[in-house]
Amino acid sequence: AVELLGSINVDIVTALKHLPRPGETVLARKTEKLPGGKGANQAVAASRFGADTYMIGAIGDDGDGEWMESILAENGVHFLPVSLNGQVPTGMAYIAVDEKGENQIIVAPGANTAIASENIGPAIPGTRVFLAQLEVPLDAIAAFFQPDRVGHGLRVLNGAPAVPEARVLFPDTDVLILNQTELAAYCELSEVSGVEDALAARQLITREDQCVVVTLGAGGSCVIRRNSHYHAPAMKVVPVDTIGAGDCFVGALAALLDEGSRIEDALPLANAAAAQATQVSGGVPAMPVRAAVDAVMAK
Ligand code: ADP
Repeated sequence: AVELLGSINVDIVTALKHLPRPGETVLARKTEKLPGGKGANQAVAASRFGADTYMIGAIGDDGDGEWMESILAENGVHFLPVSLNGQVPTGMAYIAVDEKGENQIIVAPGANTAIASENIGPAIPGTRVFLAQLEVPLDAIAAFFQPDRVGHGLRVLNGAPAVPEARVLFPDTDVLILNQTELAAYCELSEVSGVEDALAARQLITREDQCVVVTLGAGGSCVIRRNSHYHAPAMKVVPVDTIGAGDCFVGALAALLDEGSRIEDALPLANAAAAQATQVSGGVPAMPVRAAVDAVMAK
């Protein structure tokens, strides 16, 4: 099984002619309410990819929370809600996109930030992969990754978004997954544009059995170990919308590791899953099922 600790958000996505300047009011041309949060997106991706998926997360006692709970259930994710003290709203992200595709995002994390280390109970028996991202408090993630809690399980941390303080978690992870922007932030590089630049990830490795997986957009992905690296090129596609590609990659990779795949063997399939996610708008709706990805790989 895959056990995940992560964020749950409702995304309010508005299309505007131009982004508002300070003090300005702008009317949206179109507004959509979409399920989101890196945690929820990755949980759906792992579950659709075939993993028995458990998600620890927090929602408010409100309609948005109920809606997100139903989205997780429809997608086969076993939701383990954290009980919160007092009234906290479900997390929200307000996303404005202008004509040129530029965006402005405001995240109101709400219930996600109320998760405390005391809320993390014992692991689900039989879990092989423990997965977290950085949209929930770091002390809760530290408790989730406690060595005596996870036993021989694999700790996978998606260091997204880049939070400098999260470096304290790196020694207690087995697989760290970063995109180019995040790797540049953690290694204080101006830019990461390909595999050669990604080798800088070695400075984040503190143990022989640790590795960093770097996603390179249209460049695919690579795994960097202390003494070796391996690059898997991306599937050739024309993206419709890359929202959710990174989350799809992480969820699919977690599902494959849960099956016992080696990372080197899993990367081409995770790339193919993420490429398929770029063919559909949105996060949750874009996550492919395993059979669809296998069919593309067999061609
Ligand atoms: P993020 O979405 O976090 O910025 P990336 O852009 O690195 O992450 O994308 C994650 C993965 O999605 C990549 O490793 C790749 O497999 C796939 N992907 C993203 N963009 C494309 C693209 N233009 N063509 C093919 N695959 C893509």
